[in-house]
Amino acid sequence: TPTLLWFRRDLRLQDHAALTAALARGGPVIAVFICDAQVETLGSAPKWRLGQGIAALQKAVADKGNRLILRRGAAIDVIPKLVEETGATAVYWQRSYDPASQARDAEVKAFLSAMGLEAKSFKGHLLFEPWTVQTKLGGFYKVYTPLWKAVRGREVPEPLPAPTRIPGPETYPSSEALGAWGLGRAMQRGAAIVERYARVGADLAQERLAEFTSGALRHYGEGRDIPGEDGTSKLAENLALGEITPAQCWHAGQAELNRGNPGAEIFLKELVWREFAYHLLHHTPQILTRNWKPAWDAFPWSEEASSAKFTAWKTGRTGLEFIDAAMRELYVTGTMHNRGRMIVASYLTKHLMTHWRLGQAWFEDCLIDWDPASNAMGWQWAAGSGPDAAPYFRVFNPETQIEKFDADRRYRKMWIAEGQANPPASALQYFDAIPRSWGLSAQSAYPAPIVSAKEGREIALSFYKTRDF
Ligand code: FAD
Repeated sequence: TPTLLWFRRDLRLQDHAALTAALARGGPVIAVFICDAQVETLGSAPKWRLGQGIAALQKAVADKGNRLILRRGAAIDVIPKLVEETGATAVYWQRSYDPASQARDAEVKAFLSAMGLEAKSFKGHLLFEPWTVQTKLGGFYKVYTPLWKAVRGREVPEPLPAPTRIPGPETYPSSEALGAWGLGRAMQRGAAIVERYARVGADLAQERLAEFTSGALRHYGEGRDIPGEDGTSKLAENLALGEITPAQCWHAGQAELNRGNPGAEIFLKELVWREFAYHLLHHTPQILTRNWKPAWDAFPWSEEASSAKFTAWKTGRTGLEFIDAAMRELYVTGTMHNRGRMIVASYLTKHLMTHWRLGQAWFEDCLIDWDPASNAMGWQWAAGSGPDAAPYFRVFNPETQIEKFDADRRYRKMWIAEGQANPPASALQYFDAIPRSWGLSAQSAYPAPIVSAKEGREIALSFYKTRDF
């Protein structure tokens, strides 16, 4: 009898435990993607990027002699309907960890089980299930390094191979057209620019990993911290949608480590930062919306989304070149270097005294590698309100960061056109990518700093002195 294979954030056919189990069951596989509330509520860039990823998966499934069925609606309605239409007796999917998806999946599982059907979820989005990593006292980890030490020596199973063929049913259930979902609609003209930087689909994700392991990973120890250099994997975009698995990345990193490259250990550690984010999300789901340390509820952050300061930050016009370069990189490429993310988040929450939730929401709208766990953890870490956070007195100084990480001005030149006789294409693309309503052009004058590095630091520190955060 048929198995319904429900794709969500696992847009691949390799290392896919649910697919492997569906094939092992025998019988035809009916692959489905559902456009539900989880999809509808995505920010504009992640939603556009998801649409691209689904198109790539459609093609990959077709190449295996099957068809990806697209349906819109709540999973709790769509899945029983598909079960009825196809006679499927089992529904398989890869596990998700955010509270909304977990609630949805629990409801679907309970419903199917009550009908006497097999409903099963599989591991793959993470290296280690969050509930299997425990402190000696049986609690969860609130600090990264002990978690890293706890998992470092664990065995990560070899990734599963992709099938050569996925048998389909004799007649397929009807499918909606992907174009009709309008997943790219909110991106408007920005998509045409971001598209040049995205690498969509499982095949390109594998290519990216191979290129990285034979290239930038060799110098990752030093290169990963320089935003003007192509020194990181950029795999976050693919990991976010499950176009590649962390296990595939882990094994590639481990192989490089075995070849004697010490930088590879740092890469493995970064993959475990992602695990840490999901560990925290699982154990403290409030990390998504509330100060992880409640003492920060008293901090007088501005939550005014239309303030001049927040607008200047969003549009890359704070007058601090490093901040503006990073914010423009975000708008043009749909990603931002990790060093940039840390500095712009610190600047927004400390120098501009603006709530991390506003920054988190802006990233959620702009990042093609948006990930609920890493984004929330990153913001709360930078703001000081989160677990393992930078100590409150650590206010990044954007000017000294420039000296340290962009001494040759490469990053700034890449993204800020103003003041350059011959700005590179990337700096000009920003003006093509932004909405017209921002009223900016390459001829606009570059602004004076809205809040200087020194002034901002003093403002933030004066608030910290008012109480013990
Ligand atoms: P690489 O350097 O190649 O690292 C390999 C992988 O390790 C990444 O793809 C990622 O999966 C993981 N990783 C690396 N650093 C971190 C980290 N600090 N936290 C969690 N995982 C990490 N990452 C996202 O994937 N999505 C987000 O929405 C996101 N938002 C962030 C917001 C803020 C304010 C901050 C400070 C960080 C955020 N990060 C986020 C983490 C990090 O910046 C990105 O994962 C990284 O820049 C992605 O680039 P890369 O794939 O080239 O990373």
